[in-house]
Amino acid sequence: MNTTGKPDISREKSAELYEKAKTYFPGGVNSPVRAFKSVYGTPLFIEKGDGCHVWDADGNQFIDFCCSWGPLILGHNHAKVREKVVEVIQNGISFGAPTALENELAELILKHNKFIEKIRFVSSGTEAVMSAIRLARGYTKRDKILKFEGCYHGHSDSLLVKAGSGLVTFGETSSAGVPKAFADETIVIALNDKEALQKAFEEFKDQIAAVIIEPVPANNGLLLQHKEYLQYLREISAQNGTLLIFDEVISGFRLGFEGAAGYYGIKPDIITYGKIIGGGMPVGAYGASTQIMDTISPVGPVYQAGTLSGNPVAMGAGIAQLTELLRSGFYRDLNAKAEEFAEAIQRFATARNYKFKVFTIGSMFWFAFTDKDIRKAEDIDPASMEKFKIMHRELLNRGIYLGPSGYEVGFVSSAHTKVDLEKAKRAIFDSLDLVFR
Ligand code: PLP
Repeated sequence: MNTTGKPDISREKSAELYEKAKTYFPGGVNSPVRAFKSVYGTPLFIEKGDGCHVWDADGNQFIDFCCSWGPLILGHNHAKVREKVVEVIQNGISFGAPTALENELAELILKHNKFIEKIRFVSSGTEAVMSAIRLARGYTKRDKILKFEGCYHGHSDSLLVKAGSGLVTFGETSSAGVPKAFADETIVIALNDKEALQKAFEEFKDQIAAVIIEPVPANNGLLLQHKEYLQYLREISAQNGTLLIFDEVISGFRLGFEGAAGYYGIKPDIITYGKIIGGGMPVGAYGASTQIMDTISPVGPVYQAGTLSGNPVAMGAGIAQLTELLRSGFYRDLNAKAEEFAEAIQRFATARNYKFKVFTIGSMFWFAFTDKDIRKAEDIDPASMEKFKIMHRELLNRGIYLGPSGYEVGFVSSAHTKVDLEKAKRAIFDSLDLVFR
C-alpha cells in the first residue's frame, strides 16, 4: 500500500506476466527501460491502446504520454494507419523485393523535405544511425566520429561510448562487449560548449568523418540547444570537411514534417529517422544529398542491406501516418495544444514555488525537478530522480502513464483531447503537491 497519495493500482496480472517473462527474457523484457528499474513497482503489461489511452493486463486505463517512445504521433490504433496495414497485409507480408509502397513513402517524404534528396529505409533507428556513420566514414575516408554526452543514438558499437574526464576525450565504452578500439575512434564532448568543439577539431584535424548530434537531445532529459550553437556546429563541420549528421529519430516528423532541420533552418549532411516514420511499425531511414547517398551499395562502395528493409506492411503504416501529418494545420494544432499543456503545468509549479521545470518544444516535454536552465547532461542532478519516482507512482495511480524514467521525455499526440489534457493536468498538479509537501 502506498501511503503518500492514492492507493496503488492493482498490478496482479502484470506482476504474474512479469514473473513468467523473467524466465524467458533477461530481466523479463526485450528492451531494458521497460523493466521499470528507475521507478516503483513492476512493469505494466499493456493489453491494448486506443487514441491517447492504454489499458494494462489488470484492466487499468491510462492517458499515455509515452506513446511507444514517440512513434505514435496520431495516438494508438489510428483508423487510417490500421486500415492501411490491413489493406497491405492482404497481399502478403514480405517479399524481399522492391514494391511500389517504398516509392510511395519515399516520394511523400522527399517531396516535402528540402534537406535530403535520396533516402534508404532500414528497420530501426539504431540501424539508421549505424548506417549513416558508415556512410560518413566511407564518403570522407576518415575514421573518427564526434558525439555529445547526453545524446543517444541507438546501440551500435561506435555509439555506446560516453565521455571520459576532460574537455575533449576519447570515449569510454558505456556497455560491456564494446571493444576499446571502437571507443578510440569516438570523441565525446559536452553539449552546448563551443570551446570543446573548437578544441576537438584542432586536436583531430582532418580525422573526423562526422559529428553526430540529436539536434533536439531528448534521451537524457530534453537538453534544448541554442540555435546559434547548432549553426556553429554546421559551420565548423563544413570548414573541416566533416559531415554533420542530425539524428532525428525522435525529432523527425515530430517538430514539424521537416523535423529539427526544418525547425532551425539548418541543413545537415545526413539525417537519420525512425519512430514516427513507420507509424508504429519497425522502420528507420537515413537520407542525404544524391552525391552522398550514391556512396551506398549497389552504386557505391559502402555496404548496407536488410532482409526486411522497406517491408511493405511497415511502409503502408508509414504512408498512412505521414499522410495525416501533411494535413494543413496538423503541427500548428498539435504544438499549440502541447504548449498550452506544458505552460499550465509550469504556471502551477511556479505559483507554488516548486523547484520544478517543464522543458518543452513542439509536442515533447520533460519534467525536471530543478530551477536551473539545463542544456547539458552534467547539469542534471541524479538525486532529483527520486522525486520523479514518487511522481511516476502517483501519476500511475491517477491514470497517467509516463515513460518509466525521469530522464525520458513525454509526447503529446493528436489523439490527446483538451478534456484528456485537462484531466492529466489535474493529476499532475496533485502529484506535484504530494512530491513537494
Ligand atoms: N537515435 C535516437 C535519437 C533515438 O532516440 C533512438 C531510440 O530511442 C535511436 C537512435 C535508436 O532507435 P531504435 O530504438 O529504433 O533502434
